[in-house]
Amino acid sequence: MQEKITLTDETDLSPITSEGLSNYPPLDQWDDWVEYDSKAWPKKVLRHYTLVPTVCFNCESACGLLAYVDKETLEIQKFEGNPVHPGSRGRNCAKGPATKNQIDDPERILYPLKRVGKRGEGEWQRVSWDQVLDDIAGRIRKAIQQDRHNEIMYHVGRPGHDGYPGRVLKSWGVDAHNSHTNICSASARTGYALWGGFDRPSPDYANARVILLISSHLETGHYFNPHAQRIIEGKVDGAKIITLDPRLSNTVSHTHHWLPTWPGSEAAVLLAMANYLIQNDLYERDFMRRWVNWEDSLRALRPDWEVKFEKFESMLKEVYVDFTPEFAEQESGVAAEKIKAAAQVVADCQGRLASHVWRSASSGNLGGWQVARTLFFLNVLTGSVGTRGGTSANSWNKFSPKPFNVPPAQKKWNELLLPQEWPLAHYEMSFLLPHFLLEKRGKLDVYFTRVYNPLWINPDGFMWLKALRDENLIGCHIALTPTWNESAWYADYVLPMGHSSERHDLMSQETHAGQWIAFRQPVRRVAMERMGQKVEFSYEANPGQVWEEDEFWLQLSWRIDPDGSMGIRKHFESPYRPGECITVAEYYRWIFENSVPGLPEAAAKEGLTALAYMRKYGSFEVVKENYTPYQNNVVGLESLQVTNGSIPKSYTINEKGQVLKDGQVVGLMIDDEAKVGFNTPSRKLEFYQPTMADWGWPELEYTLPHYLKSHVHPDNIDITKGEMLLLPTFRLPTLIHTRSANAKWLYEISHRNPVWMHPQDAQRIGLVSNDLVKVETEIGYFVTKVWVTEGIRPGIIAMSHHLGRWRLFDNKGLNPMSSALVDLNELENGEFFIRQIHGARAYESSDPDTSRIWWQDVGVHQNITHAVHPDPVSGMHCWHQKAFNVTKAGPDDRNGDIKVDTNKSMAAYHNWLAKTRPGPQADGLRRPLWLNRPLRPDISQYYLAKSG
Ligand code: SF4
Repeated sequence: MQEKITLTDETDLSPITSEGLSNYPPLDQWDDWVEYDSKAWPKKVLRHYTLVPTVCFNCESACGLLAYVDKETLEIQKFEGNPVHPGSRGRNCAKGPATKNQIDDPERILYPLKRVGKRGEGEWQRVSWDQVLDDIAGRIRKAIQQDRHNEIMYHVGRPGHDGYPGRVLKSWGVDAHNSHTNICSASARTGYALWGGFDRPSPDYANARVILLISSHLETGHYFNPHAQRIIEGKVDGAKIITLDPRLSNTVSHTHHWLPTWPGSEAAVLLAMANYLIQNDLYERDFMRRWVNWEDSLRALRPDWEVKFEKFESMLKEVYVDFTPEFAEQESGVAAEKIKAAAQVVADCQGRLASHVWRSASSGNLGGWQVARTLFFLNVLTGSVGTRGGTSANSWNKFSPKPFNVPPAQKKWNELLLPQEWPLAHYEMSFLLPHFLLEKRGKLDVYFTRVYNPLWINPDGFMWLKALRDENLIGCHIALTPTWNESAWYADYVLPMGHSSERHDLMSQETHAGQWIAFRQPVRRVAMERMGQKVEFSYEANPGQVWEEDEFWLQLSWRIDPDGSMGIRKHFESPYRPGECITVAEYYRWIFENSVPGLPEAAAKEGLTALAYMRKYGSFEVVKENYTPYQNNVVGLESLQVTNGSIPKSYTINEKGQVLKDGQVVGLMIDDEAKVGFNTPSRKLEFYQPTMADWGWPELEYTLPHYLKSHVHPDNIDITKGEMLLLPTFRLPTLIHTRSANAKWLYEISHRNPVWMHPQDAQRIGLVSNDLVKVETEIGYFVTKVWVTEGIRPGIIAMSHHLGRWRLFDNKGLNPMSSALVDLNELENGEFFIRQIHGARAYESSDPDTSRIWWQDVGVHQNITHAVHPDPVSGMHCWHQKAFNVTKAGPDDRNGDIKVDTNKSMAAYHNWLAKTRPGPQADGLRRPLWLNRPLRPDISQYYLAKSG
């Protein structure tokens, strides 16, 4: 044990550094941690810090951070990991500590701004938060009073919270929640929902025997750092890793079996593995018999057969017989022997298969939701569902506390979010919003964008530009953002919102087999309060007048309904001070005291309130392990009463074996025991999915885990004609969508996105690394540099997203370190053309580092040249693009040139619209009742005739 040393300003710290390092400051010294000032070297100057935990906001993993706040200056010296956070366990990726860059960024927006002049001219005036609140509240009040609820929309990019704005929108009674999920992960979510009624997988990597990844999950995946550390733990413990990815990623470099599949063929390869298990009787029979809806599957697919499990097994053998390794080789280009070897590894997983897909193949391809479904099929076949080392449902490992005073569901349905053409869309059809607006399906009066840069991040960005600048389509655009972005340029208000150390949020993610909750906090505010200073609103503690959404929404809602007559104000009255507006501290105090099991008791042991405990530690472990919760007995039916035929009165068992309590299905009978089961109508894992048949997709390719040919199947791409596949779905690990542009350390590491090209293709086209290449898409083209590498399959070009930022003026808007100054031209015929005037440049600012910027290339904005591809089932944008021509750039082409014809944009949208099979059903049902949607409306709104 290291001897405890009490520090004074005169203490010589050298013995500590030479004799005993520790990873983190001991908890009992967080209130007064002392370190030498590194900048004062060689002088030994001690600085005193109060350490305040918060949560990183630079991806959705919600890792813990510890802010070192100087007690004298209140300056944040640095961010390190929070060692008591159960998900990240004190570790971070490069993006966590780079929060320091974001808060110190000399280009950040410090005050609320209101547009003057025309939209997009770039003229702004500083206004007060009071003016902002009054103006926007008045506009929303008027829209609601005039029954124009559907003209209000909140569109979120990076949420970074668990449900807070949803509660606000419900209190307003509007169906206004829009997200970025259909350009992110909606297809994978669809596949998981169809199996088990859950949203996403939660693999238990650390305890796995086999880890099966689709994409570069280890280096950039969802829950990146928490998952990466557990994947490596699993590997160290002997787990075998299988990765499907056409690109030689860093993840592949840690992989035992790399299957470089042609994009879109993943489901064929996964089914070949499944078929290997099925034909060789290597699946977990008893698990399948108990937990898969095999009776319903047989009845639907072999109505003449006897309903016996053995018959179901025969049917499985028939249905998948053609998915041989040889067939998978033909589709994927991966040798049959390699696929078979991977299947043998899966067969040997002993119920410990941790598998994961989130974006990548699911998000790239038409029918990508079948990638998730076929992947989870392997979990079902091997019985690796919710087991130690297996794959759980996210809802088992994510903790979602209830807030105080939950408003009722809204009695509205907004067809700009979920139109009838996509009754099964897993999330809102967000990326088609400009297409809907431009074809006059509706208009918006108040449009909030929040940490969201739709013009830049979505495909077909010029359509966004057309919609955003049109005041007849969008009456008032309010950009809630920590940083400048291309879309905020077309806003009416630009409202600065805090980074991770400047705001409150609750976060919980399914990083492993337990459950935890973490508290994001404005760290300077907390430090000030620790020192006895009173702070009413977080903008008093943040730089300039940077605020936080939580307080903004509270104050805005209070002003929408000044006298309480609209029924909104009551949802914001303090539970502790009746009649007064709740404070953000009271909001979280209520949750911590009433909604997090075990937290008040843990706090009491330390003599703290629940809120004080969370302010001190920033996180709390709610459940250490939560394996196979679907096997739990229905509460109240744990005893043998069920087998004896006598059950309490409030329960019934119907003819399907489902257990009902007070008329609601709460479980099902499995071998004479009442079990909780899954969140599907049958309460089982749904192999055959009746919902697909009921909603117009009765073919086997849709009702079963199956293989759908992608829009970029080799049949559709003729390399001999110069066509190739453009894979735009990977990310360099140090990038954060649009916000990395304000982190100098990250941009110094990654700032360019050349096209990856195999030497065979480069030779055919006549290119060497750093040559300019012209890539023609369905709606236009872009010009960029090429990187010739064997790390990508022939026939495919790959390009990282998250780069290619641009600005229209040299001295305002986006950060000059990370964006190119461009000339944007709109032509008469609906075409747009962008040419870069210059790239990044060194410049003088309050940060001496900005004069040391050495790079010019900031990459190319490829997404704006992509046509929209809405999947007809999941609604997901299918990101992969057919490159119609890939050639050496001509003498008139320049790096960063972009051209798009928006007439072609609209045509592409209509081509994909034609693939849909629209609802509603005969009774007016818009969407299956059991399929959730974000901010679920009142059940009446699911029916067309009854909705408002
Ligand atoms: S993995 Fe995500 S949350 Fe964790 S430190 Fe990196 S960016 Fe932050």
